[in-house]
Amino acid sequence: MDESSPTLMVSEIYLSIQGESSWAGYPCAFIRLSGCPLRCSYCDTEYAFTGGQRLRITEILVRVQKFQCPLVEVTGGEPLAQPRCTELLQALLEQGYRVLLETSGAFSIEKVPRDVYKIVDIKCPSSGEMERNQWRNLDLLAPHDEIKFVIGTRDDYEWAKAICAQYSLSSRCRVVHFSPVFGKLPPADLSHWILDDRLYDVRLQLQLHKFIWPPDTQGV
Ligand code: SF4
Repeated sequence: MDESSPTLMVSEIYLSIQGESSWAGYPCAFIRLSGCPLRCSYCDTEYAFTGGQRLRITEILVRVQKFQCPLVEVTGGEPLAQPRCTELLQALLEQGYRVLLETSGAFSIEKVPRDVYKIVDIKCPSSGEMERNQWRNLDLLAPHDEIKFVIGTRDDYEWAKAICAQYSLSSRCRVVHFSPVFGKLPPADLSHWILDDRLYDVRLQLQLHKFIWPPDTQGV
């Protein structure tokens, strides 16, 4: 093992079906990094806030390699809360993986390698973390990146709709997702709002994994 390889705190590494983004449905190897300074009201990965195992990037690569899966996602917690996450992303790219990054939008994506497919949240009012949004990230998106609003209320929806228009979001990235908070906002309600408003450039996202496995299952 390369003793000079940087280390990261890792919550879990596992193989599953991608549940979110335009990559939903594909088999995907997940690397969940530990830690997140945010406390979104709907967070479903609180177990990753603390703890985990300190692993060298070289060790992480060996564990991921075992799955022989071409699609890899780095997620959290908030992966970019560990600055050396960008080195892991670069190492994964160099191994030839298609690399996805799920990030809260509260950290700059400036140093994320351009070839990474970034899925960037914009935190809505009911998350309780709206003030954390780093609006400069919108200028750093690549055409293959995606934006996600997690919507818990009608107010969130109206807010997200206004942000889409204000920043011409659909022209800045590949997909803009509207995702209802699981167990709080019925998907049918959000679907009706989108259709009533003829929002033809947003995509309804359901968290596929929560329909395949029990919603609170870890490591799937
Ligand atoms: S950013 Fe993600 S991991 Fe952090 S509190 Fe919000 S939902 Fe949870």
